[in-house]
Amino acid sequence: MSIEVEGVTKIYGNQKALNNISFKVGKPEIVGFLGPNGAGKSTMMKILTTYLKVNKGQIKVNGYNLDSNSKEVQKSVGYLPEHNPLYLEQYVKEYLTFNAKIYGVSKQRINDVIELTGLTPEAHKKINQLSKGYRQRVGLANALLHDPDVLILDEPTTGLDPNQLVDIRNLIKSIGITKTIFLSTHIMQEVEAMCDRVIIINKGEIVADKKLKDLRDENEQIVIVEFDYRVEDAFLLKLPKVENVINTHDFVYEITFKTSEDMRSYVFDFAHDNQLKILQLNQKNASLESMFRELTNQ
Ligand code: ADP
Repeated sequence: MSIEVEGVTKIYGNQKALNNISFKVGKPEIVGFLGPNGAGKSTMMKILTTYLKVNKGQIKVNGYNLDSNSKEVQKSVGYLPEHNPLYLEQYVKEYLTFNAKIYGVSKQRINDVIELTGLTPEAHKKINQLSKGYRQRVGLANALLHDPDVLILDEPTTGLDPNQLVDIRNLIKSIGITKTIFLSTHIMQEVEAMCDRVIIINKGEIVADKKLKDLRDENEQIVIVEFDYRVEDAFLLKLPKVENVINTHDFVYEITFKTSEDMRSYVFDFAHDNQLKILQLNQKNASLESMFRELTNQ
């Protein structure tokens, strides 16, 4: 196991931020730590990266005990904090080289992470010239410098525009093929887009720990589509196996299908046949949504 958390409690002053939390994460695995704001996600992440100490409980990362072997834990973990602390006046490569020296990382590894995170064309730019999406890549590159087995990513996709979001999700998914990724988010769709498993936290307590594939209703799916123009609901109801259409806002529609077949290609064909452009296309897990709402009163 890459992360083992057993009975962890964290108290700030007189406030219990985490109350007797236990969970495990394997390798490779991408686990989403999902919960509303204030649930205790950042606190847990800071504990796992040795920034904060627990009041009670045991933690092992990569087999190393966090209390007695924090140096080895630090070597095993790469961390992207919620507010990615970059030196905006530095050049990308300069920033990474500076941090690489702290870790004693080779020049070759710097080039490797630049390549891995898709930063090659931006490596000679100043960080303040980069978009938010590329700044997140720099944060990820930084977290990967010492080639840790475990990545802790605190709200890695917050504040990104839809295109940047897709790119960073894909990057995280590709890194997660070989590593353990534990990422926090308050947005359910992020879990669906990237994770194998979800751990839901509410008011400092774990209220669910489930594999995404176990949550999927085999015979129902919701496709969320944004067109460039208004479409009549009745028109969309002509799609095969469609059960329901909701125009949630603007030109965004949630279409429920009763089938296990992936219906996104039908929606594509529909758009093409009707000279519509698709601006966004996503699938939504109806079971995850209702579980999250129920457990967190959202
Ligand atoms: P999340 O990341 O899920 O939004 P946090 O871990 O940041 O939640 O916070 C959990 C709870 O602990 C919140 O009620 C928050 O106000 C409180 N908290 C977080 N950091 C501190 C701190 N340094 N001092 C006191 N309370 C804190």
